[in-house]
Amino acid sequence: MISVRESLRIVRSRIEKACERSGRDPANIKLIGVTKGVSVEKILEALDEGLVDIGENYVQEAKKKWEFLRERNVIWHMIGHIQTNKAKYVPHIFSYVHSIDRLRILELLNVPNKPLKVLFQMNLAGEETKSGIRSEEELFDILKKAKDMKNIEPIGLMIIPPYSPEPENSRPHFRKLREILYIANERLAMNMTELSMGMSQDFEVAIEEGATMLRIGTAIFGERR
Ligand SMILES: *Cc1c(COP(=O)(O)O)cnc(C)c1O
Repeated sequence: MISVRESLRIVRSRIEKACERSGRDPANIKLIGVTKGVSVEKILEALDEGLVDIGENYVQEAKKKWEFLRERNVIWHMIGHIQTNKAKYVPHIFSYVHSIDRLRILELLNVPNKPLKVLFQMNLAGEETKSGIRSEEELFDILKKAKDMKNIEPIGLMIIPPYSPEPENSRPHFRKLREILYIANERLAMNMTELSMGMSQDFEVAIEEGATMLRIGTAIFGERR
């Protein structure tokens, strides 16, 4: 079986190649290793190979790992749906939240002395099984309020396209997300720069479409059970 170390190197070289093809600088793309269900041992292997950004889906699981890895240089990204009763832990652990899907959660995350960078998760296909904001109007309404929140910094948008084994099928969703970011910035006089898009299946296409943050699990840590 191929090691985490080696998988990470392979992913990085694929990122570099995709950047070359599309005339982008790899320095402008943040690789987030997605570690839901992944052991601390495997995470440490990735950290030793220079990975810094870690993405977790569940607050409880992240909290345990965070306590274990406190001494290490890790930047934590929350990428999963946040239950209202777990929100209070989030600003203590995470620097980024990619999965803002409603105003209520943002209000709970806006706490003193714990600045959070946030991205808004879009569910443009309106999939019932996924959370996320379903329309541009709803996004704009939330953004208008987010702009005034003292400890919240809106930095961009996130999307998980409908699952497909064919990476090209993600392209229109990525493209649409980039368009919405542009429109939101124009309409609300904002300057959000981040597009969190691209997973193990489709990150090369995401890079071609302007992704600035990739969330990659399986391709680094292996299949999840
Ligand atoms: C699990 C997960 C990922 C990573 O998926 P892989 O296909 O394993 O790379 C990325 N983003 C979110 C929101 C996830 O839940």
